[in-house]
Amino acid sequence: MAERRSRYLRPALRPGADGWVAAARRVDSPNFDERPAGMPVGLVVLHNISLPPGQFGSGDIEAFFQNRLDATRHPFFATIHDVRVSAHFLVARDGELIQFVSCNARAWHAGLSDFFGRERCNDFSIGIEIEGCDDLPFTAAQYDTVAALVRELLAAYPSVGALAGHSDIAPGRKTDPGPHFDWDRLAGEAGLAPALLPYRTVRPAGK
Ligand SMILES: [Zn+2]
Repeated sequence: MAERRSRYLRPALRPGADGWVAAARRVDSPNFDERPAGMPVGLVVLHNISLPPGQFGSGDIEAFFQNRLDATRHPFFATIHDVRVSAHFLVARDGELIQFVSCNARAWHAGLSDFFGRERCNDFSIGIEIEGCDDLPFTAAQYDTVAALVRELLAAYPSVGALAGHSDIAPGRKTDPGPHFDWDRLAGEAGLAPALLPYRTVRPAGK
């Protein structure tokens, strides 16, 4: 029993009081500011990202979140290099966890967004980018890390009441984490109650 318990707690991925996960590789992004005073974290938003699009492991996501993307390296980069965005976390293809912004601060990942009538989701959410795209499956290592991280975020921030995809809170504008993201697999691995997945549970069966 002790073994099972320790596996599920995985204290190494739990954010400290400063909002940083000690076991994550820290890559500071300047793209953050304060959350509105007194506003608790209520939502975890899952995304996918790949730079250049469809390519993995280039290091360009880190560069992008640090405002040092080389606009001459790829035609797509010229269109986004001056965009100021970030997420709290990135989960690489091999499952490595990278953290850019303290969970206590507001990262700039959701943009125009609406969670059941609450706008500006950045104010009250934690953003997790999963390295990937809408056309390819994610890796087992990524599910393991995302599940372990989500479990620890729920433990550290009991005010979190839901997980959503970027496409759920910005429908028509965003498609990530995309059709290949297996929410049932995440729910199983992280032990998520159905109430934590409001966009899944309200969906008609088979859709
Ligand atoms: Zn997104």
